[in-house]
Amino acid sequence: MTRTKNTIGFKDKSEETEDEAIRTMSASVQEMKPVACVAKIRFKDTGHSFDYYNDEFYLEPGDKVFVSGKFYGKLGLVESITTHFRIDKTKYRKVIGRPNLHISGSFIHVNDKMISFDTDFDPERFAAVIIPPPDPESEEKEKIICGEGWSVGFENFEESESVNPDKIKPGFDYCTEGNVIYFSMKNSKGTAFIRGRHIYKAEFSFDGETVSDLFCTCPFNDDCLCKHEMAVLITLRMLMDRPEFEGKHNFVAFDSEFFWNYVSAEAGEITLK
Ligand SMILES: [Zn+2]
Repeated sequence: MTRTKNTIGFKDKSEETEDEAIRTMSASVQEMKPVACVAKIRFKDTGHSFDYYNDEFYLEPGDKVFVSGKFYGKLGLVESITTHFRIDKTKYRKVIGRPNLHISGSFIHVNDKMISFDTDFDPERFAAVIIPPPDPESEEKEKIICGEGWSVGFENFEESESVNPDKIKPGFDYCTEGNVIYFSMKNSKGTAFIRGRHIYKAEFSFDGETVSDLFCTCPFNDDCLCKHEMAVLITLRMLMDRPEFEGKHNFVAFDSEFFWNYVSAEAGEITLK
């Protein structure tokens, strides 16, 4: 495990040298052991900060964290910490997650996506940033069961009997509205996060001809692909048809508007090279 600072290093691919690419990856330092502390944490739209107990993470001022309690699900900013405390633990809410916001790698702009063929920002890390850990105070526990995943031809999915023609336009609109915020392919496994009423995750396998085992986490369970799954197929074909993807099997794509918002709001310090 490595502990990384909330900084970002990327640059225009056209100016890239191998040396620079390596340098952008070097911002990480060793993971530090958790230190028990009380942290002052501020959330967007709150005028002041709140105290939280932490014994799971090594925290520093400037870190972004998830907490239990009233602000569950919101990323808060650690303003200060103290290791000098004596508290009644039953009266304190806890820090429950500290996502790694660091993005490294080289990015190029392709249509409305920021693409990287070498970033370490994998789906698990992206999920940790946008989806908080389970609420320790919640009684509800997920019990996921799946039936069959969808299987459609990549080049002609519109003709599949699993595709409802009425869902193609909404899926296309999701793409043009920038709702496919994250998309990755690694070792023939695809993962996408799609913004709708909530953020949904779609997963699939892709062998170059067929998209199979396609699932979406949205509550739509009908006998055809949902609009998020349509958006995933449209995005995949849009990308794979581009010359930049020739011979490339592993990549990460961010919606570019999401990417820049993320970089400015969450990742903090920016280093442009
Ligand atoms: Zn869906």
